[in-house]
Amino acid sequence: MAAEKKTTVIPFEKLAGWRPARAAYGVAGWPVAHSLSPVMQAAGLAAMGVEADYFAFEVRPEGLEEALKLMQGAGVRGLNLTVPHKAAAVALVDELSEEARQAGVVNTLVFGEDGRRIGHNTDARGFSRALREEFRIPLLELRVLLLGAGGAARAIAFQAARERAERIVIANRTIGRAQDLAREIAPMYLDDKLERQSARLRVVGLDAAALAAEVDQVDLIVNATSLGLRAGEPPPIPAHLIRPHHLIYDAIYNPARTPLIDTAAEAGARACNGLSMLLHQGALSLEIWLGRAAPVEAMRRALWKAAR
Ligand code: NDP
Repeated sequence: MAAEKKTTVIPFEKLAGWRPARAAYGVAGWPVAHSLSPVMQAAGLAAMGVEADYFAFEVRPEGLEEALKLMQGAGVRGLNLTVPHKAAAVALVDELSEEARQAGVVNTLVFGEDGRRIGHNTDARGFSRALREEFRIPLLELRVLLLGAGGAARAIAFQAARERAERIVIANRTIGRAQDLAREIAPMYLDDKLERQSARLRVVGLDAAALAAEVDQVDLIVNATSLGLRAGEPPPIPAHLIRPHHLIYDAIYNPARTPLIDTAAEAGARACNGLSMLLHQGALSLEIWLGRAAPVEAMRRALWKAAR
């Protein structure tokens, strides 16, 4: 077995004049040292037999534009973007894929040989693949309660609409953001103005009373809020509202066991964290950069090991 390589972190200050020894890809974030992408993507590149390195670029929010120029100058071919750069990158590309435009966030960047930058979003399809893998049920057959209306939630909402989920309920703390999102997906999701369709796409606040009125008419609950990232935070939905028939997908993967996952287990519901979404969004990035199927199993092994 090949020896595992340590992730090379390149701080912004070292980018000027930096030249990679061979084809280079990477992830830009702040902080970035904790990112699991380098381990996963390096395993993917190696399993594909691609002679390339994958770096972690440490870039503060205000440095992103300059960092992209420097990376492009250095010949970097593709970049993943993580917190806090995903939304800001939208304004720094020449072209956006449909998914990136809809989500309003870019998580995968292609530096074209012609100097053009193309922004993609692989969270939407990554989520769909993860869901099929975890629960073996396509979105088409599910009534979805989506918690959140930020970048991840937007990608998931558009994907649920594209795959014609049976029902979509969007719940968010700031209800106006959920309303905007519902308005955006409505034209592609609702076929006509039949009265019953007002129940097919709904928006509610992220409060116990509003959620209580919905939980018996949903199958899948997705946490796409950041509630659960920090220790001591409550689950995004109160414990007494979780039913044994619910499937729970928490997009958070660090910590691996969130309050929502603990709560779901106590209620007898099936639940999983967002590691599978991370895996598949990363595999889809590799596919975009290299134009062929990614070695998902090799990436999964590396990711699971690093996340343990
Ligand atoms: P955003 O900042 O774009 O959105 C954050 C969302 O969380 C908003 O809906 C926000 O509500 C809500 N929120 C934040 N704090 C609270 C709170 N205290 N109470 C209630 N709601 C709150 O973040 P992202 O969409 O990028 O990420 C959301 C989550 O998804 C994160 O946990 C992230 O780790 C995860 N994620 C996982 C991925 C994976 O591959 N598994 C990929 C991408 C994201 P409001 O609108 O009211 O502010």
